[in-house]
Amino acid sequence: MRIILFGPPGVGKGTQAKLLIAEFNAVHISTGDLLREAVKNKTPLGLKAKQYMDAGNLVPDDIMIELLEEVFKGKAENSFVLDGFPRTVAQAKALDDMFEKMGFKLDAVISLRVEHDVVIKRLSSRRMCRTCGRIYSLDQLGENTKQCRHCGGELYLRHDDEPDVIKHRLEVYLNQTKPLKEFYRKSGRFMQIDGMQEIGYVHKQILDILYPT
Ligand code: AMP
Repeated sequence: MRIILFGPPGVGKGTQAKLLIAEFNAVHISTGDLLREAVKNKTPLGLKAKQYMDAGNLVPDDIMIELLEEVFKGKAENSFVLDGFPRTVAQAKALDDMFEKMGFKLDAVISLRVEHDVVIKRLSSRRMCRTCGRIYSLDQLGENTKQCRHCGGELYLRHDDEPDVIKHRLEVYLNQTKPLKEFYRKSGRFMQIDGMQEIGYVHKQILDILYPT
């Protein structure tokens, strides 16, 4: 199964990707996670990407395309869920070229739709673990908002989840990423799902799309 999860920041792509990879024994490829790891380790990629990420801007296409080529190099992943890539038409075209070279066929581009005020609320109440990268919402955490329940690591509010940066990320999504819908719609691989529903229900809707009865 080769799937792209598409949608604005905070729509639940990461959460749904984790459920799908468990279902299909697939690999989760999150470009946001790869970049955050690179920033944490101060690699050349991380040093280049940090300024864009902190400002809520997209990391330039050439850097992102090179990163994806690196991810796929020699791996021939059979089953994967792409989360956060592509984010521009140029990235989508480059991905099509990569897949053609590797003989891969994309099964579906699943777009999760959510209202913008809900996205702002979700992102500003999101906390991430510095150690294992798990994501929680403040509603889930109760009193203990500082410590990861899974590994005990420190929970923090991502700089790009602060209100001003969120607003800018949504504008970036509207201007640079949303036009991709048309790109994939034309290719007949595009399916839209209501991401406002409860997590398990959204997951079931995705499975219904992938395996229509
Ligand atoms: P995410 O965790 O997917 O929301 O990504 C966090 C940040 O990483 C984004 O706001 C961008 O700065 C950067 N990023 C992740 N994926 C991409 C991409 N495909 N193209 C450009 N920038 C990206």
